[in-house]
Amino acid sequence: MNLTRTLIDKFGYEEFRMGQEEIIRDVLEGKDVFAMLPTGAGKSLCYQLPAYLGHSPVLIVSPLVSLMEDQVQQLKTKGEKRVLALNSFLDFEKRLTALQNLSSYTFIFASPEILQNNNVKRTLKKVRFSLMVVDEAHCISQWGHDFRTDYLKLGDVRAELGQPPLLALTATATEDVRKDIIAQLNMVDPTLHIHSVDRPNIAIKLERHATLDSKMNSVLEYGKTLQGPGIIYFSSRAIAEQVSIKLSESGVQGVAAYHAGLDSESRLLIQQQFINDELSLICSTNAFGMGINKSNVRYVVHFHPPSNTESYLQEIGRAGRDQEPAIAIQLFTEADERLPISFIETELPERQQISMLLEELRVRAGEHISLDYEKEGIRYKLSETAWRFIIHHLHQKGILLNGIVNTFHYQSLLEDLSNEVERLRKRKLLKWIDFKKWLYDNQCRRKGLLERFDEDVPKIDQCCDYCGLIEEVYMKQGDSTLKEVTAIDWDKELQFMLRVEEKGEE
Ligand SMILES: [Zn+2]
Repeated sequence: MNLTRTLIDKFGYEEFRMGQEEIIRDVLEGKDVFAMLPTGAGKSLCYQLPAYLGHSPVLIVSPLVSLMEDQVQQLKTKGEKRVLALNSFLDFEKRLTALQNLSSYTFIFASPEILQNNNVKRTLKKVRFSLMVVDEAHCISQWGHDFRTDYLKLGDVRAELGQPPLLALTATATEDVRKDIIAQLNMVDPTLHIHSVDRPNIAIKLERHATLDSKMNSVLEYGKTLQGPGIIYFSSRAIAEQVSIKLSESGVQGVAAYHAGLDSESRLLIQQQFINDELSLICSTNAFGMGINKSNVRYVVHFHPPSNTESYLQEIGRAGRDQEPAIAIQLFTEADERLPISFIETELPERQQISMLLEELRVRAGEHISLDYEKEGIRYKLSETAWRFIIHHLHQKGILLNGIVNTFHYQSLLEDLSNEVERLRKRKLLKWIDFKKWLYDNQCRRKGLLERFDEDVPKIDQCCDYCGLIEEVYMKQGDSTLKEVTAIDWDKELQFMLRVEEKGEE
């Protein structure tokens, strides 16, 4: 089959990028495929091209509405009209019309949550999908176990849809995470296409500080001198805001803070302005980045360490997608070591909290009940992740079934859930300990990251601070210090927001 012909005709590319062709051939043979390609390597082509060769319709499960909208938009600009995005925010009538005409679409994007809607599921079952794609599949492992448990049901959804061939796509997954994804999605003897997680155009620098003050001075200096666009990541909303204000006050133009505490309109506006080069620096929590398709990010600085290697690679992977030189700088002090641990603790429920909730449910056995995070979750002082974790397990064990509480053995359920929490906590802590080890290792930074994925390190010029770096390359040059920041076109921004609002935003 002449795949290159289709590539030229439909996508306008002369040749495949690394890995794409092999993956597409396996998809066309109807195999289950697990593909790990670095960010920016053109993962979506791996299901789009087969669709044009008759392998359609394709169901694409995508973790974020913004990511979904982005891909839908990209397909539409290429002239593809048969695209549909199903998410919980598509209004009822539009959803109804779309569902009635499902078979006329080539690409159907869906969130894991909407695939749990019975109406949607019933309609989807009538379609014979040639391919099911799980995009950003590492989310299954990273979020599925506690944060977004509907991810863990994708294997069941797939079975209900008649077990179409599956393509799992990700940019970063360790051996363990790969195994977890393959098991959760019931993939049968999948072909693995594992390509390097290395991004040779991103230089890596570790910078240890004795005090918070000196770390703060350093981040401000980087904010002033590094050539943007750039992102600085923080674990704290307050510090993200503080640094953003300090940088603005010291004359840096186009800086904004971004975190989940802002209302959704402000967040959208900031994202859009950053994408359009109207902002040059975002001081952000890890809420920023996924689904943001921006190729010219020149640096990513971490003010606090993320809690595992995968998160770190994903976050620095937002730099240099245009393959031009970029730099990733990780700052840390010894005091930072406590942060990821306390995050892990609040993400999981305590035994005492589980016990109180189970007490309440025991008394109400046989009743119709609707459990709500805003009420019960908050009453028991559970974080949202901790709440989702408990509810997921109550559903899975059949204690909560069709809105009714079934009788259960209190003590053994409490033990079960507590053990499960312990298992998760241990897993997360081990990941953190492993990443922390990297922060202190005295060797090539790249080697340290790549050996965690059983990869060898290639010889590159601007590798890391251990191998030796010429940092001036990443600094603002002479007079052309700041790119001219274009004035904000509010009309355009407003139009954009209305468009998104119409479709709904997560
Ligand atoms: Zn190195």
